[in-house]
Amino acid sequence: MDFKYLADLLFPNVTMTRDDLEAKYPMRELPEGAAVSRMAPSPTGFVHLGNLVQGLTSERITHQSGGVHFLRVEDTDAKREVQGAIPILIESLKHYGIEFDEGETADGDVGIYGPYRQSHRADIYHVFAKELVEQGKAYPCFCTEEELSDIRAKQEAEKANFGYFGKWAVWRDRSIEDIKSAIDAGQKWVLRFRSDGNIENKIKFTDLIKGKLELTENDMDHVLLKSDGIPTYHFAHAVDDHLMRTTHVVRGDEWLPSLPFHLQLFSALGFKVPKYLHIGPLMKMDGTSKRKLSKRKDPEFALTYYKEEGFPTESVYEYIMTILNSNFEDWRRANPDADVQTFPFSYKKMNPAGSLFDYAKLLDVSKNVISRMTADAVYDRFTKWAEEFDKPLADAFTADSEFSKKIFAIGRGGKKPRKDIGRWCDVKAYAGFFFDSFFEIKDSYPEAFDKADIKAVLNGFLDSFNTADDQNTWFDKIKAVADANGFASDMKAYKADPTPYKGSVADVSMFLRVAVTGSLNSPDMYSVMQILGENKVRDRINAMLASL
Ligand code: GLU
Repeated sequence: MDFKYLADLLFPNVTMTRDDLEAKYPMRELPEGAAVSRMAPSPTGFVHLGNLVQGLTSERITHQSGGVHFLRVEDTDAKREVQGAIPILIESLKHYGIEFDEGETADGDVGIYGPYRQSHRADIYHVFAKELVEQGKAYPCFCTEEELSDIRAKQEAEKANFGYFGKWAVWRDRSIEDIKSAIDAGQKWVLRFRSDGNIENKIKFTDLIKGKLELTENDMDHVLLKSDGIPTYHFAHAVDDHLMRTTHVVRGDEWLPSLPFHLQLFSALGFKVPKYLHIGPLMKMDGTSKRKLSKRKDPEFALTYYKEEGFPTESVYEYIMTILNSNFEDWRRANPDADVQTFPFSYKKMNPAGSLFDYAKLLDVSKNVISRMTADAVYDRFTKWAEEFDKPLADAFTADSEFSKKIFAIGRGGKKPRKDIGRWCDVKAYAGFFFDSFFEIKDSYPEAFDKADIKAVLNGFLDSFNTADDQNTWFDKIKAVADANGFASDMKAYKADPTPYKGSVADVSMFLRVAVTGSLNSPDMYSVMQILGENKVRDRINAMLASL
């Protein structure tokens, strides 16, 4: 077969050569050990935790090593493309500190290795496609959908493996006359790879996350170019990662089964194989078994979820770090105030099997993150969130910012800050009661207490209550109310023998708490009363008295 003739027949308009491209996209001049990696999303409009995990990994390994992180848009599947998806993706990742040095941006391409959108690179792919044909490593296939289904039906009947390979690859060794007449008849063709692999053979490969792998060789003549001349992911990524001088390909391990084919492609194209990091999936517990997080079943898979719930981006970032690098939590404990970007991230610490996503743990991490913020920061971040997701709440909290900042200052700043808020949507339940519009009696008094006793306690408190008192005086007065009404003021004595008492000073406090905050749990009562002020506290206790 005259492959040169065939190549000219298939690609009459390709005039560029590989050498032109190699010269146009020179090797990068970077320090020894600097990694070049990328995010290569398809513009589907759905940004999820998997993107964050991938982006964080590629961003960290590149920026920690003084390398380059770039964004390439893999839009070869026009059917899945959603308009405006890329600016959304770029914005969402930026929130999480994942930035690109190069690639497609909201304002066009930045960098000399572009275009960074695969749909703009057809002429580049065709140069290499033509070369593969010239070398007899690729050929056109004119099979129609029906013919491919027929092949499949026959394979099913023969219990053979499915796919286009070996004797089933009916265009693999067709004569140039057949090919020419198909072209002349205007038949559509795809370009297929001529695989010389054999499934009896194994290849050895070391993935930086998965470790040493033994994979079955690929024997399929996979499609390189679709009938519209657009490449498949496989072919496009090989050409792009070569010309963009990628050193590390970081991607989900759903691509692992295609790796033998990719390795064949790099070899056929004469490209150096990049290092691969295949990331295991994010999983969650479903009953007693684990399963992959799913777009359909798990709202928490989407990044928008975290925005809506009001998770600070740092919390999500720190949590993802926690599940990706097992030593992150120890590092955080030792460096509570350090910038998270100073953590020495390592792909070697990533679990090859993937990570378990645990919502409760995320909430915990987030409570820690928020507990380290100043009251001013909490105020700013919370009100910004509330403006978008709970306007009435935002209006209440912004009406008097000094008042609201006092609320957020409760229990903050000390060695052991309180950890009440994990998401901005928790603020309403935690502190909404400070505002009459959100105040309601949510919890009732436990049945075990006599209403008359509760009333006596509340009245006793009102008799001596004075907001000018310091915390000790205030509490001494509560203890005195306890003593005067048959409740133990000495917790030790009460614990040793509760029988002579109606309850303890803790119950007295609880009576006040429910009256003033509407709930059995609340921030520190002394602070609450200081912030609410004498009149409001008295009003609420009087209202409770009237209702008993
Ligand atoms: N477009 C591919 C995906 O979204 C990218 C895989 C890669 O990073 O190479 O899965």
